[in-house]
Amino acid sequence: MGRVYNFSAGPAVLPEEVLKEAAAEMLDYNGSGMSVMEMSHRSKVYDDIIKTAEADLRELMGIPENYEVLFLQGGAWTQFSAIPMNLMKNGVADYIVTGQWAKKAWQEAQKYGKAVKVASSEDETFSYIPDCSDLPIDDDADYVYICENNTIYGTKFWNLPNTKGKDLVADVSSCFLSEPVDVNKYGVIYGGVQKNIGPAGVTIVIIRKDLIREDLAEYVPTMLRYKTHADAQSLFNTPPCYGIYICGKVFKWLKANGGLSAMKTRNEEKAKILYDFLDQSEMFKGTVRKEDRSLMNVPFITGNDELDAKFVAESKAAGLENLKGHRSVGGMRASIYNAMPKAGVEKLVEFMTEFEKNNK
Ligand SMILES: *Cc1c(COP(=O)(O)O)cnc(C)c1O
Repeated sequence: MGRVYNFSAGPAVLPEEVLKEAAAEMLDYNGSGMSVMEMSHRSKVYDDIIKTAEADLRELMGIPENYEVLFLQGGAWTQFSAIPMNLMKNGVADYIVTGQWAKKAWQEAQKYGKAVKVASSEDETFSYIPDCSDLPIDDDADYVYICENNTIYGTKFWNLPNTKGKDLVADVSSCFLSEPVDVNKYGVIYGGVQKNIGPAGVTIVIIRKDLIREDLAEYVPTMLRYKTHADAQSLFNTPPCYGIYICGKVFKWLKANGGLSAMKTRNEEKAKILYDFLDQSEMFKGTVRKEDRSLMNVPFITGNDELDAKFVAESKAAGLENLKGHRSVGGMRASIYNAMPKAGVEKLVEFMTEFEKNNK
């Protein structure tokens, strides 16, 4: 069997060019006589890999000098605790709860201080983004937290919340590098790379330098202090070397393909194909308020569990993998990240059209 169209929410599809390059370099990276997996993270060869990756990411996102870029481990989940431990100075933070990931981050933060839920869309199973133009932001809140793209529910903040001057912290795991971004609007942008950038095991944290503090509670583990990693340029201990190398290749791929504005155009085109189909279909329905739709994760249902199961089984047989929805939503979900080719989305819509015809 050849390669399938992989609609997994994460770990997810990667650019085929990147995988081929990595395969070609597997036994001998750039004349070093060894795989990147086998080399010291203190070697000159590896230093070039991680420095180049950071430089390319800075160029792609236009990351200003007063922000630090950290390549860490532990997934987005580890940041759910690292963020309050590092950023809570007054011990207060405001959370906008738009899905499971934001909710988990909010619950975790309660262990370290007063984490206030200032808005939520849980009343309608997280199918929309609440109005965040005038929230009751606490005067002494250290930051306002969002999950910018809700991987499970398929919603996206198309306008950032009015934080009333507080620093914005955003989990962008599932929309990282999917469109241009103004980094200056954030105190912290972070995400696990396994959705839209690279293999699981790398978490990227982009943090404004003045938020990196030394005077933390004694109990904060060395490994969870941003200062530890900022001072060592992500080489305090052994970083996820191979994963960072693949991320670096994806950054090069993005640059070669026109950067983030070109990605946005491509992603809009792909999502439109699928949403246009959903909007005219009599069988399939999108589950999200239209103006809040994600370009990355597209959940849809037939309204009939048996038909959903049949769809998932038959689509898999047709080479369209991982379309089963998240266990908390049911139905289907197509994740159409940067590396999903337009042909994959076209094939999906073709399949859905046929399925609808055959199951009337
Ligand atoms: C997948 C995901 C997470 C969890 O990431 P881990 O790396 O598994 O900890 C958190 N937030 C968002 C938005 C996600 O998509």
